[in-house]
Order: sequence, then structure tokens, then C-alpha cells
Amino acid sequence: KGEAIRFPFDNSYARLPDRFRARLDPTPVASPRLLKLNTALAERLGLDPAALATPEGAEILAGNRVPEGAEPIATAYAGHQFGNLVPQLGDGRAILLGEVVAPDGKRFDIQLKGSGRTPFSRGGDGRAAMGPVLREYLVSEAMAVLGVPTTRALAAVATGQPVMRETPLPGAVLTRVASSHIRVGTFVFFAVRGDVEGLRVLADHAIARHYPEAAGAENPYRAMLEGVVARQAALVAQWMLIGFIHGVMNTDNTSISGETIDYGPCAFMDAYDPATVFSSIDQLGRYAYGNQPRIMQWNLARLAEAVLPLLGESEEAALAVATEVLNGFAPAFEAAYLGGLRAKIGLPGDHMGDVALAGELLKAMSANGADFTLTFRRLCRAAETPEGDAAVRALFSDPAAYDAWAATWRARLSEEGGDPAARAAAMRAVNPAVIPRNHMVEEALAAAMQQDDLGPFERLLESLSRPFEDQPEADVPPPAGEVPYMTFCGT
Ligand code: AMP
Ligand code: MG
Ligand code: MG
Repeated sequence: KGEAIRFPFDNSYARLPDRFRARLDPTPVASPRLLKLNTALAERLGLDPAALATPEGAEILAGNRVPEGAEPIATAYAGHQFGNLVPQLGDGRAILLGEVVAPDGKRFDIQLKGSGRTPFSRGGDGRAAMGPVLREYLVSEAMAVLGVPTTRALAAVATGQPVMRETPLPGAVLTRVASSHIRVGTFVFFAVRGDVEGLRVLADHAIARHYPEAAGAENPYRAMLEGVVARQAALVAQWMLIGFIHGVMNTDNTSISGETIDYGPCAFMDAYDPATVFSSIDQLGRYAYGNQPRIMQWNLARLAEAVLPLLGESEEAALAVATEVLNGFAPAFEAAYLGGLRAKIGLPGDHMGDVALAGELLKAMSANGADFTLTFRRLCRAAETPEGDAAVRALFSDPAAYDAWAATWRARLSEEGGDPAARAAAMRAVNPAVIPRNHMVEEALAAAMQQDDLGPFERLLESLSRPFEDQPEADVPPPAGEVPYMTFCGT
């Protein structure tokens, strides 16, 4: 039993009452084969990457062998899917092996995703296909390097077993690392059951784990709610500033820690258009790019509603607290988003006029099909020299729309003064040159699945690890697709 492979487990969630989870081991797979190991993340967690890269390591990462000290569980949660309450969801295809405490004292969940059926699987097979596993690996690691709070990918293992979707697909297991997997939906699970004691235990657990400063507050549960609102407002602002579309912002996919979680149908926007939707099942555009802030606020309202019994002595008092805290979302989001937008055009100072200026650029971009990432990246050079204008204006179907905006912008920049090179450098630190482009991700997944060739995946991952460096291959607009790009969840 894997003596060589030690995980510094301390499983606080497994110690919570029985109704929080089901105990069960992952279901073994036919023939585990390591596709990718995140060596740097393993080291950061205090794990031995060399040991994880052995056949025994692959067996652990596939769920065939339970490491010493693990206490595998499937956690219970509820959630609102596209606005509709589902009283019970839960880990239908994931097993939490346990929590490791890293050398710096930080605690992380080690979860296997695609590890077989659980009591929460409903009709599902409990498995994951290789494509979505590699996709989550690429996109979540890209988000981490971009500085966005997110779950991480420790490993991807092929199972040697097909999963049946529309056609048989190769199966895989992702090892997901998160500061926890507690969701808004976890609170909803206890709230819909009228289980106030469960709510309190969960809230105390979440406070100890994610908001320790709230424990000493006059009203700790209010302080926790304020903390979640603040982190989620900052998170969704970061998504908006890099063109990230989560795609399935259900309350079960909204974490209490403030990390991005559930990389199913997510994708980055190419041409700027607030109505952009990629998810095949999001027919009404509920989770469109431009809707994300208000959806996050809606999700946080569901959290506030769930913890209402903890917020005040009377229902009236609790409602007043919830309302006050929720009213903090919009200003927190706006401060982060508008500040970030100003920084993207090289005017990070606190001038309201600059927000309008950035807004004018966005309007011109959406009217002219301009690529979101490339416009802001190429603008960095234009901030230094008007010679940079040619590359930016080429992104607009009517380049004159850029010229008109650039004239105003340049006048504003010279009024602001300062060193153009320093300004351009600051802009290059917030406007990524490289994002996981849909067509590049698809190419990497196709090579892995059809030719067993992980070369394109590795090369893309390497490129994504340097998002703020100019990379000539990335400085091209994506090919115009014949059909709009589409993503799928639950695959
Ligand atoms: P998601 O849309 O990814 O947030 O998943 C919603 C719910 O469906 C969660 O309870 C998942 O655990 C469950 N689920 C998704 N895919 C599967 C699957 N293949 N087998 C069992 N449960 C699944
Ligand atoms: Mg989910
Ligand atoms: Mg999912």
C-alpha cells in the first residue's frame, strides 16, 4: 500500500456530520496511464512529483489505490441550475480524497473528478471524457497564471476505459486542487432541508477555513457573507477584464472561497460582444459574458437567503443584514472592474472621464468585431508610439472607428503625462497577449485523443504559462469559424 507516496492529509470535511457527505472509495479503472502531472503544483503542495509519476502514483491519481491517510468522500450539495432550485445534486462523479496541508500551512482539497458513480450520480455514469479533462487542465492552469483565483489541475490520467457519450470517447480522471469545494449550493442543501444546525456547522467550518477574521466579528456569519461578496465581486471583475465566460454559473458552481470552479462549458471571448454565449445548453443566454456580474449577484442573494437563519435574531433583522451586505456587491464589482478597465487603456488613475473613454473603446470594438484580447494587447504599443496604431486599427472592420477613438485617447494620455515606456509596461502586465483560444484548445485535445499525441497540449500549456509575454504565434485573430464555437457541460 503506497508507502513511498505520502500525502500530508488532515481531513476536516470528513470529520463533519454524516449528512454532509457519503463515504466511498473511487471506482477503479482498467489501466491508468499518466497523461500529465503538474510538477510545480505538486511541489507547492508538499507532494513528491517523482513518486506521483510512478505507476503507483498513476494508480492513486486514477482512483485505483487509496493513499495512506485519505478518507474518500462524495460531498452533498444542492444548487440552482439555470435559476431552478435542485434540492440535491452532490458529487456525482467526484471523490474528495482528503485535504493536504501544504508546507506553508495552506489547506487544499485533493479531489478526483471522473472517479466513478456515487450516491449523488443520479442518471450519470460518474465518469469524464479525456477531452474535457484536458480542457479543464489547460484553462484552469491558464487562469492561475493570469492571476485569477481558481481551482487547479494536479494531474490528468487516462483510464483505458471508454465513456459513452454520443459516441464512445476515451476516459480520464482529473485531480482537482481547490482551497475547498464548499459552494453556495452546499449552504442551499441545508437551507432547503430546514437544517439550521447543519447550516451553522457548515458556516463555522467555512469561516475557519476561508474567513478566519470573521470569527472575531460581532456577527461572524454576516462577516462571512461580506467576505464571500467581496471575493466574488473581485473574481467576476477579473473574468470580465480578460474576456472569460464561465458558462454555467449555477449556485453549485459558485465557491465560498472565491475561486473559479467548474470548467465545463467555459471559454474566452474572441470578438468583443457582451452577448457572447458558448454553452450549447444556454439557449437564453443567461450566462452570457455581459450577464455575469448580475448573475453572480443573484447567486450571492441565494447564499444570503440560505444563511438567513444565522444572520439575525428576528427574520426582519436578518433580512436587513442580508440586504445591506448584498448592496455591497455592485459598488465592489464596479470599483474592481472600472479600475481594471482604466488600467487596460493605460489610465489607472481615478478619473471618471476615463471610464467613459474605455466604454467608448468597447463600443467601437463591439460595433466592429474587434478581438478583445488582441485589441488591448496591441494598444500597449500604441500607448508608446503612434506607430502601434496600425496593428490595432487592423482589428476593426471599420478602422476609422479606432482612429476616432485613438485621437481622443492620445490627447488624454498627453494631458496625463508620464513616461510612455513605463505606461506601456504597466499595460502589458494587465493585458494578456495569450489566452486559451478555443481553436488552439480544440487542436490540442484532438491530437491527444485521436493521435495519442500530447505534444500540442504541452506546447499550448507552455505558451499559456507566459501570458504577459508577446508571442508572435498568438498575435493573430482566431480563424473565422463557419459555425459559432460551442461548448458542452457534463461531458
Ligand atoms: P455541473 O453541470 O458540472 O455543475 O454538474 C451538475 C451535477 O451533475 C453535479 O451534481 C455533478 O456531479 C453531476 N454530474 C455531471 N456529470 C456527471 C456524470 N457523468 N455522472 C454523474 N454525475 C454527473
Ligand atoms: Mg458543477
Ligand atoms: Mg461540471
